[in-house]
Amino acid sequence: MTRVAKLLKAQKGKSTHCGLYFTPTDSVEIDQIKPISLGGKDTYDNLQLLHPHCHDTKTAQDGCIHKCHDDKPF
Ligand SMILES: [Zn+2]
Repeated sequence: MTRVAKLLKAQKGKSTHCGLYFTPTDSVEIDQIKPISLGGKDTYDNLQLLHPHCHDTKTAQDGCIHKCHDDKPF
């Protein structure tokens, strides 16, 4: 089983960011829940599947280490 298939099964076919199901035409991206750059590990419990646009949003949030998003309606 591929890593994507395994994660897909663990997440019951949903993107953990938006909560919507992946459809056969969606592309999926593997995200480190805790970024490697912040000390996260490349293990299954630190991986999740996201839509590319969800991944972009999350990565932008991850990259903000000073909580500068608090005033934004994310
Ligand atoms: Zn999504």
